[in-house]
Amino acid sequence: MTASRTTGIGFTSQRTRDRMVERLRDKGIKDEAVLAAMSAVPRHLFVDEALASRAYEDTALPIGFEQTISQPFVVALMISALRASRESGLGKVLEIGTGCGYQAAVLAKLAKEVYSVERISGLLTKARANLRELRIPNLRLTHGDGSEGLIQAAPFDSIISAAAAQELPPALKLQLAVGGRLIAPVHVNAGKREQALCLIERTATGYTEQWLDAVRFVPLRAGKQ
Ligand code: SAH
Repeated sequence: MTASRTTGIGFTSQRTRDRMVERLRDKGIKDEAVLAAMSAVPRHLFVDEALASRAYEDTALPIGFEQTISQPFVVALMISALRASRESGLGKVLEIGTGCGYQAAVLAKLAKEVYSVERISGLLTKARANLRELRIPNLRLTHGDGSEGLIQAAPFDSIISAAAAQELPPALKLQLAVGGRLIAPVHVNAGKREQALCLIERTATGYTEQWLDAVRFVPLRAGKQ
């Protein structure tokens, strides 16, 4: 008898997932809603079966096409920063860089609607397959260049990029609603490999900008393939 990939046994079980959440809590993630969402989304469904035993390690893993599934701690940190002291919640979200679809699934548990854009069609196909059995009604995937935002669904209450820009694409700030927040890894010294998380909030009169932790993300690339 084979166990369903969703219910899981051993390294794919709820208990394994709860241990990952405990480690995130130990590392300083305090937002219980984010921790609950990450406890509910089966991360092993988003990596190849050969890597499933490592799915709940706090590490990035390859997903093909030279891309990676983001490290759970960084997913938790970024979503927590978007939510911090905002009673309205995440609202309508734009994610840039669907990859395998994991973070999109976590976001969909916390947001009203999620639009996720991926530039590599092969990855989008994989993401659709990964997400199919989870049946998430408030998530829409689009093939496109996320550095242009997604004008047809703008403005967004929250924007999150899973790929690092040399400079933050101007379209993203423009597609933020007033009171909306954007978080993205951005290169800090032009041409160097250092990146940090940049948190931007749109106010009635302009934008505020804050720099958070140093991070390591795959590059944001223009165009689609
Ligand atoms: N969100 C994923 C992480 C994916 S890695 C997770 O849940 O783990 C980042 C992704 O960004 C890659 O799939 C890469 O192809 C994509 N990407 C890079 N530049 C992009 C762009 N301009 N528009 C859309 N996606 C982009």
